[in-house]
Amino acid sequence: MQQTEDGAAHRIVLLGTGGTIAGAAASATDNVGYASAQRGVQALVAAVPALAAWALEAEQVAQVDSKDMGPAIWSTLVARVCAHLARADVRAVVVTHGTDTLEETAWLLHRALGSAPGTKPVVLTAAMRPATSLQADGPQNLLDAVTVAAAREACGVLLVMAGRVWAGAEVRKVHSYRTEAFGAGDAGPLGQVVEGRLQCFRLWPGTGLDQLPQGSGVTDGGADGMQGDGAAGLDLPVDADSWPWVEIVASHAGAGPRAVQALVSAGVRGLVVAGTGNGTVHQDLEAALLQAVSQGVPVLRATRCAAGGIVPGGADALPSAGGLTPAQARVELTLRLLQTPRVR
Ligand code: ASP
Repeated sequence: MQQTEDGAAHRIVLLGTGGTIAGAAASATDNVGYASAQRGVQALVAAVPALAAWALEAEQVAQVDSKDMGPAIWSTLVARVCAHLARADVRAVVVTHGTDTLEETAWLLHRALGSAPGTKPVVLTAAMRPATSLQADGPQNLLDAVTVAAAREACGVLLVMAGRVWAGAEVRKVHSYRTEAFGAGDAGPLGQVVEGRLQCFRLWPGTGLDQLPQGSGVTDGGADGMQGDGAAGLDLPVDADSWPWVEIVASHAGAGPRAVQALVSAGVRGLVVAGTGNGTVHQDLEAALLQAVSQGVPVLRATRCAAGGIVPGGADALPSAGGLTPAQARVELTLRLLQTPRVR
């Protein structure tokens, strides 16, 4: 039996939510026309004989294609993660998830749990090939995720995928097909797993020695004024209808005010604008967004760029989402709205 470094907290709990890692296709060569979320988390564990060496527990929290991830599953997932981490015998939680919205769930979990020193690890993992594929990457990813979950260095929310370890607060999907589908903007991976051994590339969030590249804007808050790390005690409604309605609008050539005006009229509670370049926004769209703010609808400004985030210093009329992707910024604004009393 593999031992974690703290013998008392030796168990690792696997929570299944679906995704391609649990997907199945009619043919072993079909890596696109498959159905996600077909296999239970117990079956995923059973498919990896090496996992028998660990003290594991598996629980199915949801079974969805992560394009359909949403508030109801998120509140259950956060509750189950917190319940398991609170157990003295649990070392870590591993979550199997679809890749499509993984960066959003990773940000949510990071905000719920943080990565303060001593925070037990929550390791997300996923796959880009269904379980039926000749190229199935899920089994190795799952084994690597458990390996990292048990490691002394592991802390806070992480993603293990294609042999790399990423900080949950930094990760984003960057490729629609390759098995190496994730990146972290300018930050790069935290480490890698080679032949069952974790190798660290840089200091990890939560070791107390965080050292992220300048401008990553994440460890001290991914967005202006945000508690980016360890805003524990999030009270997430179980009822999906109780979550505030927050939408993403994009700035682009020819962008105008009408989408924002329609959303505000329809009762949207918050808006994220996916800006161009360093978070710039078309003047006609910006005018509509400023009008929305004056009507009590908060706006967070992210960038469409895959890396770099928003470098502070411009004459910015709207608050910046820092290094967050637009989808993560939507999660962030949703959480802020959940934590502030309704003003309109
Ligand atoms: N559509 C799938 C999902 O997000 C994609 C994947 O898991 O790779 O569940």
